[in-house]
Amino acid sequence: MHLIEIFSSIQGESSHAGRPCVFVRLAGCNLRCHWCDTVYSFTGGKKWSLAEVLAEVERLQTEPGLVELTGGEPMLQAEEAIALMEALLASGREVLLETSGSLPLDKVPAAVYKIVDVKCPSSGEAGKFCMANLAALNPRDEIKFVIADRADYDYARNFCREHGLEALVGVLLLSPAFKKEAHGSRSTENCQLDPADLAAWIVEDRWLRARLSLQTHKFIWEPQLRGV
Ligand code: SF4
Repeated sequence: MHLIEIFSSIQGESSHAGRPCVFVRLAGCNLRCHWCDTVYSFTGGKKWSLAEVLAEVERLQTEPGLVELTGGEPMLQAEEAIALMEALLASGREVLLETSGSLPLDKVPAAVYKIVDVKCPSSGEAGKFCMANLAALNPRDEIKFVIADRADYDYARNFCREHGLEALVGVLLLSPAFKKEAHGSRSTENCQLDPADLAAWIVEDRWLRARLSLQTHKFIWEPQLRGV
């Protein structure tokens, strides 16, 4: 499979945030979100065999723990990604899949925790969600909306209502978008949307199932740092 990097860090943006995690970043993406922070994953990287990936995961994680497949868009290499997920599960690991939701997820093993984006208008990629994926979601999965403004928030709220998402997944994440040119300070000044505004909207709305999610790694390390 074609990978950008494998590294060990802290899971940053889901209900698993804060847990030590090995990340496998697959190369390539079919979307071009305006605020994408992993443009470097679109090209480059190198081919790895399944055995090489598993050996590197085992080197970084000597006892079975949490492993996340991310990108780019991992499901662009669906066959290889699914084989890797199955092998990681067979080794006793917990597996997260971070995906844009734009490609089919029905073949993903049920034991994998799927963290599925629904792109909002400010991303420039709204409407790319593969609607058939609603049938592939289960209560262990999480839906994530990256929110840059009030229009994004309203889009997320309506999408959840229209499609009954609260009954389909365990967690609904609302994450303030980061500025693309974010660098230097590890502060909310790098957020496109002030998390305090997002928090206020959720509380005013009494959206009890929403969970405000900050990208933890961007507050632990400098926002532009790679491999964290
Ligand atoms: S789906 Fe993810 S990797 Fe692809 S452009 Fe959007 S933010 Fe970047």
